[in-house]
Amino acid sequence: MELERLADEVEGEMQPWYRAIERRALKNHRRVLEAFRACGVSETHLRGSTGYGYGDPAREVLERVFARVFDAEAALVRGQIVSGTHALALCLFGILRAGDELLSVQGPPYDTLAPVIGWPREAPGSLRSLGVTYREVALRPDGTVDERALREALSRRTRAVLLTRSCGYRWRPALTVDEVARLVAIVKERRPDAVVVVDNCYGEFVEAVEPPAVGADLVAGSLIKNPGGGIAPTGGYVAGRKEYVELASYRLTAPGLGGSVGPTLDWPRLFFQGFFMAPHVVAEALKGAVFTARLFERLGFEVLPRHDQPRGDIVQAVRLGRAEYLEAFCRGLQSASPVDSRARPEPGPLPGYEDPVLMAAGTFVQGASLELTADAPFREPYVVYVQGGLSKEYVRLGVLAAARAVLAAQQYRAGR
Ligand SMILES: *Cc1c(COP(=O)(O)O)cnc(C)c1O
Repeated sequence: MELERLADEVEGEMQPWYRAIERRALKNHRRVLEAFRACGVSETHLRGSTGYGYGDPAREVLERVFARVFDAEAALVRGQIVSGTHALALCLFGILRAGDELLSVQGPPYDTLAPVIGWPREAPGSLRSLGVTYREVALRPDGTVDERALREALSRRTRAVLLTRSCGYRWRPALTVDEVARLVAIVKERRPDAVVVVDNCYGEFVEAVEPPAVGADLVAGSLIKNPGGGIAPTGGYVAGRKEYVELASYRLTAPGLGGSVGPTLDWPRLFFQGFFMAPHVVAEALKGAVFTARLFERLGFEVLPRHDQPRGDIVQAVRLGRAEYLEAFCRGLQSASPVDSRARPEPGPLPGYEDPVLMAAGTFVQGASLELTADAPFREPYVVYVQGGLSKEYVRLGVLAAARAVLAAQQYRAGR
């Protein structure tokens, strides 16, 4: 069947899923709007400070808005946090001390945290180099959490427990907030004073509540993903219990200074506007993910999650199975991008990642992955991870270009 016609059919089929996504977006938009009003965001808060940034009202109100939306006691929302990895490192270095143990509940955490933890290899400056130990609970073969093994792994030394909402570069379902609630309960039953840290990257606004509402102590993420709404030019956040947010802030600046310094420069309007738009843009990205799932199901590929499975993040994985299909997908997507459409993605090394990574990203903000992007570690079974999209229309255009390139590669192979 002609690809455009197939896409029309898929859009028709997906209407009930689109409606469900819109209902959740309305709840989240209402919550964000309510926070803006309750915190009294005003025009003066849209301008930033310079220098030390002492007593910056924009920063203080922005952090109150984030805390409220995340059901957290406090938040640190900063342009000086350069990425999600940085935000998570602030949490871990803030909480953990020599002799403490960090426990990851879903096998290895996201790739870029390996050098932060110093696992599986020692890394200079890592938690391990400071005398923090690390353990992990392997996922069950179906990709779900092994709750019994988790209970057994919790020990007197367990000081922090790391949960990861998004799948990362792994073929596993994302963690839903309901599952976070269950895991928090298991941890707190055994170890009431262990700190549950949730890597919230790609999870914000996918559901109608965030992890602190169900007992997570700290969440962290990137502003060039979901909560930046496609508008924030940089930044990251930490939110949760006040004492832990403070400990994280001492690692961002210095003990004694914490969150009371940090100029906001030209960022406040972009951070406020981005956060305001985020529930809508995340919904566009989710509709795009459902569309991508169904399109590639119809083309005969295995996808995760399937179009009708619950979603805990904005990532759509498609198992392409061959290096040349993966390259075709990424090149097709890149060629349809508004920026850098003439670039040709090649697998290459990326700081913090073990395997070479192939990326298609024609984004307005470098590396911003609430904008439509596709990336994949260049390894078997050549799974592409597609996420983001500022508009559902653009996701269709971009993903169809990718699909066309994959089909051409299949035909080329068949004709050889
Ligand atoms: C993106 C991401 C991170 C952090 O990545 P940065 O590129 O440092 O922002 C961490 N965990 C997960 C699951 C992610 O998706």
